[in-house]
Amino acid sequence: MASAGSIEQTFVSLEDGIQRLTLPLPSGPKHVHCYLVEGTLFDTGLGLGEAPWTSVSVERIAITHFHPDHVGGAAAAAKATGAPVFQGGLDYAQCERVWGSRDWPERMAAWFTTHGVPRHVVDDLIEQGHAFAPFVRYALDPDLLYEGSVLAGWDVIELPGHADGQLGFLRDGVLIAGDHLLHPISPAIGLYPDSRPDPLGDYLGSLERTIALAPRVVYPGHGEPIRNAAERAQELIAHHERRLDRTAEALADTGRTAYEISLEVFGAELGPTQRRFAVAETLSHLERLVREGRAARAGDSGTLTYTGPQLDEDIPPSTNAHGVGA
Ligand SMILES: [Zn+2]
Repeated sequence: MASAGSIEQTFVSLEDGIQRLTLPLPSGPKHVHCYLVEGTLFDTGLGLGEAPWTSVSVERIAITHFHPDHVGGAAAAAKATGAPVFQGGLDYAQCERVWGSRDWPERMAAWFTTHGVPRHVVDDLIEQGHAFAPFVRYALDPDLLYEGSVLAGWDVIELPGHADGQLGFLRDGVLIAGDHLLHPISPAIGLYPDSRPDPLGDYLGSLERTIALAPRVVYPGHGEPIRNAAERAQELIAHHERRLDRTAEALADTGRTAYEISLEVFGAELGPTQRRFAVAETLSHLERLVREGRAARAGDSGTLTYTGPQLDEDIPPSTNAHGVGA
């Protein structure tokens, strides 16, 4: 078993015929899990350093979502095992856009700037983005999966929120969930450019769906198996409802940027990377508030701001209700 401080990079047998491989991460939760069940390998780690892919029999590789700690080792795992790679259709499109294009850090930086993020935080993003992207070696042209696909007896479930294209794999009450459901950390739910417009709304829907699916056990990308999935989903719904309320309280009559609101909701003492996560998370909550009629968004000379609900008669109700456009 993996223990704190040292991660033993071997496959460990769990219940349900599942083998788990835990790989180290340089930051965040410090580890990520890959699962192997009867020849299907779910996720591949960051791809830095060696992984024991040839010590086991891998017939196919399934990716839960395109974040680096899950997809970064996909090309290496495919090469070592000769196994085909399966990834969500929407997820692969985003994977290519983010890790396969040269200008993604600049586009992301421009987008953060419109949300009030200061120059030094944005410059750090460009630097980090270019340094990091070449190490994310996803597999090119995977077989694409969608809601309703079946892979080796696993039902493919789309669970958007943490990533737009986040997939779950469900079989006999076992859900391989990537980062959809975690414990004790709560999955980051951020709004990013070129993504679905209401990730928190998506996520709350995916949590309700998890409660309805009622899996017996969830195997997450980080942390121990979750045996009270419905209860955990309910806790996460409550967590986001509280954060929606905190975000709403930070709104004023005069427009404030998502960056300014993030200072209030997440505090002022964050480094550049954590600040960007905080702004993206603040934005997913602000956009949910806009859709609930509890906030309004306004565009002003390249800067987007949010206020409390605008009851101005001049605003057509459809625009007000849906918050479409900038
Ligand atoms: Zn992860």
